[in-house]
Amino acid sequence: MAAHAKRVALVTGGGRGIGREIALALAREGCAVAVAARTTREVEAAAAAVRLAGPAALAVPLDVTDPAGVTRAVAHVADTLGPVEVLVNNAGIAESAPLLKTEPELWERHMKVNATGPYLMTRAVLGGMLERGWGRVINIASLAGLHGAPYVTAYTASKHALVGFTRALAMEVSGKGVTANALCPGYVATDVVWNAARNIEQKTGKSFDEAVEALARINPGGRLLQPAEVAAAVVKLFYDDVTNGETIMLDAAP
Ligand code: NDP
Repeated sequence: MAAHAKRVALVTGGGRGIGREIALALAREGCAVAVAARTTREVEAAAAAVRLAGPAALAVPLDVTDPAGVTRAVAHVADTLGPVEVLVNNAGIAESAPLLKTEPELWERHMKVNATGPYLMTRAVLGGMLERGWGRVINIASLAGLHGAPYVTAYTASKHALVGFTRALAMEVSGKGVTANALCPGYVATDVVWNAARNIEQKTGKSFDEAVEALARINPGGRLLQPAEVAAAVVKLFYDDVTNGETIMLDAAP
């Protein structure tokens, strides 16, 4: 039996992509998992799969940018599964545009989903974690939280904000049984990459496959990461009582 079996986890953006894999992986470790995102159909389907993999699951339709919705969702999870002990702030959006075409709406959207969302979610669960003296806040940032790249100023700024948030939170909870860390993957094989490849295809005349290949080559290991590899890194942090305030780069080793 896993050391931390039966912890209650909440994974935002758990309806598809990386978040769905994280929810499944935590369920396999014995966690009861709440799966939260806006698309009800996807969170229900993901929760059904998670229920088969672990002890319990809950579908939570939620927009992480809505403060009242976040409060309601966290209370609903506490009533149904128990208080949240593992929070994975994974929900995120990634749109590209040159700065001169980055309208205020696109900028605000990224800051709200990728930075304000994790702040709201964490604030809603942190009090309980500190009271109980145990908690994990695992933020899915990006290599874009550590480095710059062209045509993604809004995304990059929002992920740098998430990394800064993680580092400051880690200092605040240090020594209190709670840890906060950020995972920083390069390109992962999900809709984010397929959408980016379609965008490159339209703008450059490269084929879809060539565009995917070009994105994969940007990764440290020269290939796309798989969602399960990010999920495995989340599981490691789940069991890790010591690591705090780290930004962990995920290298796609060949
Ligand atoms: P997907 O687009 O496949 O999934 C994103 C998830 O976030 C969906 O479940 C989506 O559901 C949810 N989401 C988006 N906006 C909100 C919102 N306002 N409230 C609640 N949920 C929301 O992306 P990935 O799985 O690829 O990405 C997951 C995370 O990993 C993101 O934070 C992303 O930035 C990060 N990342 C991804 C990389 C990649 O190459 N794929 C690389 C590095 C980091 P819905 O739309 O239904 O709300």
